[in-house]
Parts: sequence; structure tokens; C-alpha cells
Amino acid sequence: MSLEPERISLLQSLKRRGISERVVSAMNTVKREDYVPHRLHDYAYHDEPLPIGNGQTISAPHMVAIMCELLSVEPSSNVLEVGTGSGYQAAVLAHLAGDGIVYTIERFERLAQEARKRVPANVIVNTGDGSLGFAEKAPFDRILVTCSAPDIPPPLLAQLKAGGRMVLPLGRGLQELYLVCKNHEITKEAHGAVAFVLLFGKYGFSESRDGGRANRFCF
Ligand code: SAM
Repeated sequence: MSLEPERISLLQSLKRRGISERVVSAMNTVKREDYVPHRLHDYAYHDEPLPIGNGQTISAPHMVAIMCELLSVEPSSNVLEVGTGSGYQAAVLAHLAGDGIVYTIERFERLAQEARKRVPANVIVNTGDGSLGFAEKAPFDRILVTCSAPDIPPPLLAQLKAGGRMVLPLGRGLQELYLVCKNHEITKEAHGAVAFVLLFGKYGFSESRDGGRANRFCF
């Protein structure tokens, strides 16, 4: 089955939602079918999250677009993503960052290994607890967290450049997407209700309480 009609229709729906030409063009460059399990190939352009193994999900395309829009990645940006998952969002960020580098951290080694096979050359995939950030490559112009944290992890705020932007979901049941800007002071702007898998780790939720499970209905 050709995915082309569904792909074009999805990109058009993102434009109608007010997503910029720049972000839509980056998403046009990265083929989502390359990042979903083979058996779900036909669903690649459905605007919904899909399971990728280890109880985790590739985010819905509209959510990827909204997060990229809020993050406002500029060419040459040094970007950190927490929660590599399939590597799809990192690949989109890499196109927006141009000759910048995207460092992405995933807690599951298997997902990180799979993502490494797919992402463009300016994406560096690491395994570990992303709630600690990535001090070796800090500071970052932009930080994106694709799993929901209890609060802004202090290492991530410390590793964000002055003038930098961070986008992250916060909360366990009722979650909200936030844009955090680090200027003379830190501002935190809410951008609507979301449902992400949880961030587990030192500055995340505790695995012993949640069992490390993903929410089935997550972005
Ligand atoms: N950006 C991904 C994509 O395009 O496929 C979607 C990511 S998925 C919604 C969230 C990911 O965050 C999961 O793969 C999960 O394993 C990961 N995660 C949760 N806690 C983490 C942590 N402390 N450090 C790194 N990754 C974490």
C-alpha cells in the first residue's frame, strides 16, 4: 500500500493547525515509516502514537510538530533530547538544527540501539538516565523532554544556556506541556493538556511505584 496520500494529508493537516512551513518541511524530510515497527508500517501516517517496544511509544505527529514549534530550534543549535524512543523526533530536530548536533538519551538500550541505525549523522544517541542531562556536551540552546517529569529536573535547567528554551510535559495523571525560557529569570508557560509516558530516573518518577510501565494512551 502506498503511504503517500496519507503522508500528504497529514502534512496538510499540520499546516491547517498553524504549524510553520519550516517544521512541516523538516517532518516531510523524515519518513515516519522508517521509525515504526514493520508490522505497523500502514499506520505510519495516522496522527496517533504507536507502540515501539519496551512499553514505549513513538509520539503522535501533531505532538512532534507542536513541540518542535515551541522549541523553535535554530540552525547550528546544540540540542538535547531526553527520551529517544524510536529516534523519529530526534531526526526531525536534526533537520531543524542544520549543522548543529542533537544529543539524545534513552533509558532502554534496545531502543537506543534501534534508533542509532536510523537517525541522521548529526544525532548522537546515548543510553542512560536523561533526567541528569548530559553534562559533557552542555550547555544546550534547546532541550526537549519527551516523557513527563514530576517537576523540571534541576540538571536540565542548569545545562540550558542563558536565552535557551526547554519544552517538557510535567505531571503524572493530568499532564501539561510547558515551555521554559531561561532569561534574566526563568519563565514557565503552559501549552495545554497532554498524555506522555513517564520520565523515570533520579529527577523523574520512581520505577518501584510505577513499575516503569508506559501509559497505553500516550503521545
Ligand atoms: N521522542 C520519541 C520518538 O520520537 O519516538 C518518543 C519518546 S517516548 C514518548 C518517551 C521515551 O522516554 C521512552 O522511550 C522512554 O523509555 C524514555 N524515558 C523515560 N524516562 C527516561 C529517562 N530518565 N532517560 C531517558 N529516557 C527516558
